[in-house]
Amino acid sequence: MPLPPKNVRGKPAAGCRPGCAPGCQPADKPPLPSLARRGVNFVKASVQHVAQGRPQRPDATKLAILEQCAANECGLYRGDLKKPKCAHPDCGCNLAAKAGWADQQCPEGYWLAEQRAEQARQLAASGKTPAQVAAELGCQVQAVRIALAGGAGPNASTNLAQIP
Ligand code: SF4
Repeated sequence: MPLPPKNVRGKPAAGCRPGCAPGCQPADKPPLPSLARRGVNFVKASVQHVAQGRPQRPDATKLAILEQCAANECGLYRGDLKKPKCAHPDCGCNLAAKAGWADQQCPEGYWLAEQRAEQARQLAASGKTPAQVAAELGCQVQAVRIALAGGAGPNASTNLAQIP
């Protein structure tokens, strides 16, 4: 089994993530937005979340989202087992919290707010492929797959459908 990557002091770097290159440096991590911008983004997300009644995602969907983030296809994931973060200028949030809020979505379209996830499920039920649904909704095909998996789960189908 390969050893985890080390930073300059020989300890695992705080931003190490699955798949990052051995010998990576902390500087390889994508920079977070400024503290002020993160604060504004967090307040915006929180206001929206509270206004919508604090809807939560089922754990299975949240985990699927966190796995998608950790795959780092966007190049903006800052891996940290305790506090994974998104370095997108419109985010900077702690993903462990944000991925559980059903009204929130990925700024790059890799996972959808539940209203749009429901749209994705309806389009897929009408016979469209995930790629066609993604093109219609303007998101990544992975977001459609997460939406479909959430809709098919034993608890998720009920919970997700209840979110307005
Ligand atoms: S929320 Fe989106 S942009 Fe941010 S790390 Fe996750 S997949 Fe990437």
